[in-house]
Amino acid sequence: MPIYEFSCQKCNSNFETFVISHKNINSVQCPKCGSKKVQKVVSAFNCGCSSGGSLSFGGSSGCGGGSTRFG
Ligand SMILES: [Zn+2]
Repeated sequence: MPIYEFSCQKCNSNFETFVISHKNINSVQCPKCGSKKVQKVVSAFNCGCSSGGSLSFGGSSGCGGGSTRFG
């Protein structure tokens, strides 16, 4: 099952959600605050750094869509 982990940029909560297609990733909302400013968590980056500032994603190409800048 395509379950992805997301991190909310607004309330900083992580959650997992069922994503049917890649289109749905853009319409994922935080179940806690309802914000759409969510960032897909890449498992490869799961290094155990719980506290921290902003993570920069931008290495992988082909991830079309609007670019969001934090900070
Ligand atoms: Zn949230």
